Amino acid sequence: MYHGEQGLRHLQTAFANFFSGRAKYPNFKKKRNGGSSEFTKSAFKWKDGQVYLAKCTEPLPIRWSRQLPLGCVPTTITVKLDPSGRWSVSLRVNDTRDLKLKPTNKLLGIDLGITSLVTTSDGEKVANPKNLNKLRKKLRLAQKSLSRKTKGSNNYHKARLKVARIHAKIKDSRLDYTHKLTTQLIRENQTVVVEDLAVKNMVKNHKLARAISDANWGEIVRQLDYKAQWYGRELIKIDRYFPSSKRCSNCGHVVDKLPLSIREWNCPECGSHHDRDINASINILRMGTRVGVRRKGTPTKKAAGLAVSVCGATVRPEESKSRKAGAMKQKAPSSDVKESRAVS
Ligand SMILES: [Zn+2]
Repeated sequence: MYHGEQGLRHLQTAFANFFSGRAKYPNFKKKRNGGSSEFTKSAFKWKDGQVYLAKCTEPLPIRWSRQLPLGCVPTTITVKLDPSGRWSVSLRVNDTRDLKLKPTNKLLGIDLGITSLVTTSDGEKVANPKNLNKLRKKLRLAQKSLSRKTKGSNNYHKARLKVARIHAKIKDSRLDYTHKLTTQLIRENQTVVVEDLAVKNMVKNHKLARAISDANWGEIVRQLDYKAQWYGRELIKIDRYFPSSKRCSNCGHVVDKLPLSIREWNCPECGSHHDRDINASINILRMGTRVGVRRKGTPTKKAAGLAVSVCGATVRPEESKSRKAGAMKQKAPSSDVKESRAVS
């Protein structure tokens, strides 16, 4: 029997041994953080839609979470064991499909927040997923129960596994939610503007930490980024030091202070009444598209400094359609990662 104290390094061997019938299923009971192992081209075989690790006659018993696009061959696979004891297999493939959507004229600015996960310049507010609260309550109970167990005992291991399973569930449901949200935002808009966030620095601030890691802003931006590339859309990230909240979107006046607790305010200059987040997202949209317009010509130093990075399509909807169609066909196939989960 294999004991996974040095799990990470030996997972590959253990797994290969198991599937070739030379060993029992790898036992990673003692590996708190799970482990993962990457198999490159020489270490596995792809045949009839199945994955065979080197020297194995049986394919990996994969329960596919989604289908690989037709004609795609995985270049790398990663086998992962998470702390709750679930195995998953990720496949990296070269996806040559053209997912590009018909261009639209819609532009959207979004403000990522805590009270509302996403507020759009259209005035729409997207709340955090509700089931997270229920799961968090469950997690607290499970953690309490774990703290009462004798370390190293059988019951301790059972309780630890329970905590890990709830963690995994929270992670899954959060990810599922952000995927639906980012796909919709990218599909419906040609250009999406967000603030570039230093999420890691923000998480250091203790008070905001849980709310932010729950909100998963970094993951939202990451998904918007690659989905924009898939679907032929554009994601513009603007400097996070731009005062998007404190600026009046009607007259441009910037107020000195606007504490987080203030959700609505009146502009002292023009008297406009603002919802904090909607006002911010309108400013974000304006800022992003202004940078976008300047980008067409020779960018001034100032404008270049404001645009942190620009991803996705470089052709804007107002440009000629025939040119765009030509440009799209010539684009090199994009590489991306499709994930499939296999549970033992
Ligand atoms: Zn104003």
